[in-house]
Amino acid sequence: MRVLGFESSCDETGVALVEVPEQGAPRLLAQGLHSQISMHQAYGGVVPELASRDHIRRVIPLTREVLAGAQLGLADVDVIAYTQGPGLAGALLVGAGVAVALAAALGKPSLGVHHLEGHLLSPFLSTDAPEFPFVALLVSGGHTQLMRVDDVGSYEILGETIDDAAGEAFDKSAKLLGLPYPGGPHLAKLALQGDPKAFELPRPLLHSGKPDFSFAGLKTAVLTQVKRLGESPTEQQRADLAAATQAAIVEVLVKKSLLALKTSGLKRLVVAGGVGANSALREQLNSACAKRGVRVHYPELSLCTDNGAMIAMAAAMRLQRGMGQLRRDGSFEVRPRWDLAAA
Ligand code: ATP
Ligand code: MG
Ligand code: FE
Repeated sequence: MRVLGFESSCDETGVALVEVPEQGAPRLLAQGLHSQISMHQAYGGVVPELASRDHIRRVIPLTREVLAGAQLGLADVDVIAYTQGPGLAGALLVGAGVAVALAAALGKPSLGVHHLEGHLLSPFLSTDAPEFPFVALLVSGGHTQLMRVDDVGSYEILGETIDDAAGEAFDKSAKLLGLPYPGGPHLAKLALQGDPKAFELPRPLLHSGKPDFSFAGLKTAVLTQVKRLGESPTEQQRADLAAATQAAIVEVLVKKSLLALKTSGLKRLVVAGGVGANSALREQLNSACAKRGVRVHYPELSLCTDNGAMIAMAAAMRLQRGMGQLRRDGSFEVRPRWDLAAA
């Protein structure tokens, strides 16, 4: 069986084709991605209306590319999956509309996928795939959660952020440092030249004893430091502040992951979402987990942020387990707000 997957929840148009064998792990045959980052950069963030229009422009040519890359045609596709939510309503409607229309035209079933389930299962696309059960640290632009995952569809939220997400904390702090959108990777790069101890920044909820997070106060603290540095901070001061910001976010993520591992008794950690690409986070998690006999799994770097492969993969893993509601009547609805625990 082959699954064609569409991702369009925000500012990336992703299309991918996954092969689902009778037995064994699903395999990625081809994928295509178009990022809208450069288009939104001038506005300092994603402009929803522009995002929807660009998805419309990209999705069909990208689909042709993916099928050509796999040397297959639409007739070789058995199920069409799409991101059903959460995300921007207009952007979601484009991917879902194209997927369901294509499925109806081909007489094939369609399947809506939860975007965060896509992120969560993306490490299964890497050569060192995890095994269930595990603790998952989901750190993306819109979410920061620790979960106990016993299998596909069995997600128990252990803790989450009470305000900003980790990716948001990176992006908002980066903006204050005058870095382009999305600031996470830019801030990480600047931090390489900086001394994290040059500034003292808060680690909210670090000692709460629960796997919960709060990042809104960090952004305020960064703003205070930026104001203190005045109109023209030196490159070194900016790098130091970037390093201190990253260190604060990473320390909290690592401590809370260890807490969730300890209370759950599990010896496996899966990291997913865009912030999972951060090398300081990877280094510190790796060393902390190695000391405790915990194995850590990540998605490939290119699959940390949004992509179609993770959506096709999540659909494939659901289908292998006889889960997922296949639809054949050409109907669909998107879910801009949608809890993973309810998926
Ligand atoms: P969600 O999945 O919650 O709806 P999203 O799709 O916008 O949100 P992702 O695509 O998973 O989020 O990740 C994007 C986020 O990851 C951005 O906030 C970005 O700054 C951050 N990010 C990407 N690479 C890095 C990095 N190397 N260091 C820190 N942050 C990073
Ligand atoms: Mg994005
Ligand atoms: Fe995402």
